[in-house]
Amino acid sequence: TAPARDRLRIAIQKSGRLAEPARSLLTACGLSWRQSRDKLFCYGESLPVDLLLVRDDDIPGLIADGVCDFGIVGRNELDEQGAARRRIGLPDAYQALRGLNFGQCRLMLAVPDEWDWQGVQQLAGKRIATSYPAILADWLAERGVDAQVVELSGSVEIAPRLGTADLICDLVSSGATLAANQLKPVETLLESEAVLAGPVKTPDDARAGLMAMLLRRLDGVVNVQDSKLLMFRADQDRVSDLARLLPDADPLVQLPDEGGRLRLQTMCHGALTWQRLEELERAGAQGLMVLSVERSLA
Ligand code: ATP
Ligand code: MG
Repeated sequence: TAPARDRLRIAIQKSGRLAEPARSLLTACGLSWRQSRDKLFCYGESLPVDLLLVRDDDIPGLIADGVCDFGIVGRNELDEQGAARRRIGLPDAYQALRGLNFGQCRLMLAVPDEWDWQGVQQLAGKRIATSYPAILADWLAERGVDAQVVELSGSVEIAPRLGTADLICDLVSSGATLAANQLKPVETLLESEAVLAGPVKTPDDARAGLMAMLLRRLDGVVNVQDSKLLMFRADQDRVSDLARLLPDADPLVQLPDEGGRLRLQTMCHGALTWQRLEELERAGAQGLMVLSVERSLA
């Protein structure tokens, strides 16, 4: 087992899609770092929480080995390495603790445009290029499909054109890369997003308290990201109509205002478009105000 430590280490991607959002999320949790010269290790200033900047592929292993306590990584990467470990009989060594609401993508099967897709049975005997061999092998096995998994570390989408595979299994967000390579998505293996990953067992030293505090702060940032505080005034007899227009909001908080009117406020969890505000106004809401929510302690 790893030795006791009194500082927490979090691994994030050094550069790439998750690097910037991961860093801003941790900053929003109140962390700051003294920039180190080589920039692989950032020493925590506001709290004893250091950052390790690495390739995303290394993050699950760093947690498994106890080198890092938390990591921010795509669920795709975490699941792939978890599935690979299980395939060779290793125990689970990390887990996804929280979804972080960024880095959304899907792991999908994509076939050449001209294929007439009828279902997974069509995959029998085919070669599938992927960077996610363990997830794909498990998925095929669950469906009893006997196909050949061709592992490639990059440029998976050109494999069908090069003739090294018949189809691919790759990450898709907009679908533009697939379309540019005359491929179409047909099956989803995994819905992915960036996650906070941690060990299966919390260390029993000074880090435990830090980990709990960080999780609570993270929830206080992530859970309110899509929420807005809505404030307005209305006459008492309009309140029930207005509440009906806000099915995605918490119960209205009602406070007395001058002239027998009420001041109302609520946390709304759906989009508050101009159109919705105008509709609320027509139903009797006055002085509507929408405020973004930065953090909360539940
Ligand atoms: P590294 O150098 O750290 O190994 P990488 O090339 O493996 O970087 P990126 O391309 O930066 O990784 O992607 C990191 C993660 O971003 C992916 O593992 C995935 O979770 C997420 N992601 C979101 N959308 C996409 C997409 N369209 N294609 C690939 N990854 C995506
Ligand atoms: Mg990588």
